Amino acid sequence: MSRYKKRFYANLITLGSILLTYIILLLLRLIPAVSEWWSRTISRGEQIINNRIFGYLPFSCFELFIILLALYIIGWIVVTVRHLIRFSFRGSSRYWLNFGIVISLIFTVYMGTAGMEYNRKPVDIPQHTELIEDPQDYKIIAKAFQDDFNECSTKLSFREDGSLINPYTNKELDQIMEVEFKKLDSDYYTKVTTHAKKMNIFGWLYRELQITGVAFGPTSEANVNQLATSAEYAFTTAHEIAHTKGIIREEDANLVAAYICLTSSDPYLRYSGYMCTIGSLGYLVKCTNVEQDYYDFTHGYTKEIAQDSKYMHEYWNKHDMLGKISDWMNDLYLKLQGDKGTVSYTDNIDIIKDDTEYKVSSYSRYQALYMWIYLDK
Ligand SMILES: [Zn+2]
Repeated sequence: MSRYKKRFYANLITLGSILLTYIILLLLRLIPAVSEWWSRTISRGEQIINNRIFGYLPFSCFELFIILLALYIIGWIVVTVRHLIRFSFRGSSRYWLNFGIVISLIFTVYMGTAGMEYNRKPVDIPQHTELIEDPQDYKIIAKAFQDDFNECSTKLSFREDGSLINPYTNKELDQIMEVEFKKLDSDYYTKVTTHAKKMNIFGWLYRELQITGVAFGPTSEANVNQLATSAEYAFTTAHEIAHTKGIIREEDANLVAAYICLTSSDPYLRYSGYMCTIGSLGYLVKCTNVEQDYYDFTHGYTKEIAQDSKYMHEYWNKHDMLGKISDWMNDLYLKLQGDKGTVSYTDNIDIIKDDTEYKVSSYSRYQALYMWIYLDK
């Protein structure tokens, strides 16, 4: 056999083995018990080791990976086009195989380090799911949280344009998160809490893609876009850290972030938690079926919160050059992972309107967390 043929078959076997591994992992993941076991042993071990290795590097390995991948793809396109122009089938087929190996290897490594966690048991965060008897109480409960949100806003500072000033440096926020995450004492989570990393190189690009953070499975890194608004910064940091502790599903990472922020004694964390989740309480207030209640709730925030919320809205409207592309890609990514797509980011509001009355069928995740904080904590 010629050297060319030998190498061709060797590459073909390599690609076949990687694809086979991917398919086996994909099938194994369908079994919740395997997903749970993998998360608690293999993924967990990897997260602990990664934290020791990559956690201390002062830069984001995720950003480095993106640069290397981009360089590889550009190089690959140049070489392949050159071969195609020369009609060299032998040369180009080798590059196609090479490309297949690299891309399938990335997918397989991702599956082994993070994707296997998709079918775990529901995340271990307290939820009060039993509906309360008198819907009129929703108004009182929502008001109590709104009062606390308002109180937080009086303890924080804001810029002239209305935006909140993040009171902490990244290092300070890391230390706070490390303490806050100790509240998760269940063995469902990987114990180590990684330090969030800033996206120094691609922050601007990610802002146009409307992405506030990315958790990277192969290095267990929580990358946070430092160009996100201060109001969502703490919540996003908690969300990305949650991903590095064995929580891959978006709705679960959001619920962990809500729990971390809303039960904190730190006004900045609570402020950020409320900003990202309190809207879910508005739906419960609707269920008193008194229009004035809902009006009072939506108009009951301090001037600072109203201005900061308006600032956030305008900020993201201004930075939406590539938002639709990113939404499409993220939706595709989540669906490839066996998820429901980007809808999994939203709270699962389950409030129906029959004839003229609003009625709660079941609490959404955020609502059940709020009810637990109010009734059981
Ligand atoms: Zn996420």
